[in-house]
Amino acid sequence: MCTEKIIDEMICPLCKKPNLCRAKSSEPCWCNTIQVPMALREVIPTDLKMKACICQKCIEAFNANQKEFLNDLKMSSL
Ligand SMILES: [Zn+2]
Ligand SMILES: [Zn+2]
Repeated sequence: MCTEKIIDEMICPLCKKPNLCRAKSSEPCWCNTIQVPMALREVIPTDLKMKACICQKCIEAFNANQKEFLNDLKMSSL
């Protein structure tokens, strides 16, 4: 088993699912235009900040119910 931490830019750092980031394509990624809430940025692991994009689903879920989203996140990271 490899325990080394691999940073995958295509994986959402919060839900660990593909973030569908298009930063590497010719089209600008939606994440460059969307405003990621400050509170949501704060929960990204430091080593993934500015590297991996948060997926659109997480941003939507966060905007819909911030408290619940942050609670779920805490639960899943335990
Ligand atoms: Zn996500
Ligand atoms: Zn992106």
